[in-house]
Amino acid sequence: MRFATQTIRVGQEPEGEFKPVIPPIYQSATFAWNSLDELPRVDYTRVTNPTRIALEEVVASIERGTHCTVFGSGMAAVMGALSLLQQGDHLLMASDIYGGTYRVAYKVLPKQGIEVTEFDGRDLDSIRAAIRPNSKMLIFESPTNPNLRLMDIAAIVALAREHGLITVFDNTFASPYLQNPLEFGVDVVLHSMTKYINGHSDVISGCTVTRNAEFGAHFAEYIRSVGSVPSPFDCWLNLRGVKTLELRMRRHCENAQAVAEYLEAHPRVKRVHFPGLPSHPDHELAKRQMRGFGGMVAVELDGTGEQARRVAESTQLFLLAESLGGVESLLGYPPVMSHATMSEEERLKKGIPPTLLRLSCGIEDPQDLIDDLEQAIARM
Ligand code: PLP
Repeated sequence: MRFATQTIRVGQEPEGEFKPVIPPIYQSATFAWNSLDELPRVDYTRVTNPTRIALEEVVASIERGTHCTVFGSGMAAVMGALSLLQQGDHLLMASDIYGGTYRVAYKVLPKQGIEVTEFDGRDLDSIRAAIRPNSKMLIFESPTNPNLRLMDIAAIVALAREHGLITVFDNTFASPYLQNPLEFGVDVVLHSMTKYINGHSDVISGCTVTRNAEFGAHFAEYIRSVGSVPSPFDCWLNLRGVKTLELRMRRHCENAQAVAEYLEAHPRVKRVHFPGLPSHPDHELAKRQMRGFGGMVAVELDGTGEQARRVAESTQLFLLAESLGGVESLLGYPPVMSHATMSEEERLKKGIPPTLLRLSCGIEDPQDLIDDLEQAIARM
């Protein structure tokens, strides 16, 4: 089965007396046993649930893994992946990482006796320099947020393997349609399914996917222990959303390409960050590593921070909101939104000037999106 068929059929075979074409929402906290001698396959929804199992099967298949665990949020999935670490371990973390992961690294992990060192994901020497005898795991993501730089997944995995590190990769920005990091040898992939996998901005959820049976069993044990589970209804919404992942991703990519090309030619634009543009420093790597360039675009306006804020507040179709990956286009202003916890100095060091806007291109008509940006930039 190929990708689009997998999203529609895997884990979703009509079963039981009524053979529903759509897996039901098993909105039950607990399940009755036949006898005390026979442990039921599903007995309590914190441990697992049939609607969650269906979702885990389909996500495992499209991410080309064997074990998927669906969590109640992307951050719960990050915590699940990090639970492979223990006191005294050292984590290598790409400095270009999602803000929530960054927060966990400095606010939560130190209390658990886990040390963190950042590395530059585009410089293997910076990884080599960060490795210590107690290094256990390396976590990274590509494309990065908000500058959409790429990291060479295969090269980083090869280096991590030489040093016996577990590799964890956040594939939220690309989605399983555009890249499958397990194929490059990554040990654990995680997603905020809140974004492209669900795709309709109506659920918070996340997942881990792996081919390592020991890690798979660890995540199942972890989630039943800490209880960071999704509701059956949220699993069902995800099942409904994932069916159109291929169609949506194709359109996200087309729209982002059109928006990026339009912006690159605009006289009030200083720079566009989009891996699908030949001017992007990682364009060649993106062609090699990804099956498309994604739906995210970052744009640096040629003006002041004040003017950028005005543009951010002037779009009508691009809604000013956190998050990404939904069918509707969203605009984020990193200094106030995704990167608000960093100082201006830190943001500048990470290449996030006050003139940068982040666009999550939805699946609307591309000309409408361009017209919307045109009228907003005209107000600069
Ligand atoms: N990873 C990435 C790349 C994200 O963008 C996000 C959320 O924005 C998360 C993880 C966390 O996911 P959630 O908001 O579902 O907890």
